[in-house]
Amino acid sequence: MYAVAIDGPAGAGKSTISRAVAQKIGFLYVDTGALYRAVAYDMLENEIDPADISAVCERLGSITVRFGYENGEQQIYLNGNNITGKIRTPQISAAASAVSAIREVRQFLFAQQQDIARENHIIMDGRDIGTVVLPNAQVKIYLTAAVEERARRRFAELQEKGIPADFNEVLADVKTRDENDMNRPVAPLRRAPDAVLVDTSCLDFDQSVQAVLSVIKEKIGQGIK
Ligand code: C5P
Repeated sequence: MYAVAIDGPAGAGKSTISRAVAQKIGFLYVDTGALYRAVAYDMLENEIDPADISAVCERLGSITVRFGYENGEQQIYLNGNNITGKIRTPQISAAASAVSAIREVRQFLFAQQQDIARENHIIMDGRDIGTVVLPNAQVKIYLTAAVEERARRRFAELQEKGIPADFNEVLADVKTRDENDMNRPVAPLRRAPDAVLVDTSCLDFDQSVQAVLSVIKEKIGQGIK
């Protein structure tokens, strides 16, 4: 099986670019952030502070989080309920960042990320895919962009979905998440030594897709259609 690991900070365009690339080469796209978002969603629903390690760990024993696919689109199930449409709010982003710093949460979500990669050709995006989840991935990409540009894209995405947002708050959120994700002791966001850096600050969407595709073709050109 071929695995393409795409890591990078919030708002770098990982999910939209990865989804488009996966479609072009016929690989399954796996968005691992949705798993952390599902755990965060559950904690908020149950009024548990996502930074309260013992309360979060205790609650983990009562929940299941699973991936699924419907018409090729990834779905996320919490205790059997499809919550895919409910996990993209700024509150859940912040809570996901908090729960993702907890070692037990990462362990809780680890096996299914590896399982899906064992059974499919995949493009998997996240923060620790090339470093921890799939250290043997044939292709590793570290996708990034300047922080203001990432905030601008996140803001546009929220506006498009009709979620009310303020640009300065979005920028502050992105910075806080970068800070949390890069500095946590467990599986921090790092560029793997063998990851190719792709900076999309000055690239539009199509150019970013082409940049990622060309890295993949260079590494595993014979393995893709
Ligand atoms: O990628 P997305 O923005 O959906 O991720 C939400 C949060 O989940 C991130 O800010 C990060 O803290 C966490 N995450 C992670 N490891 C991953 C994917 C996401 O820690 N592989």
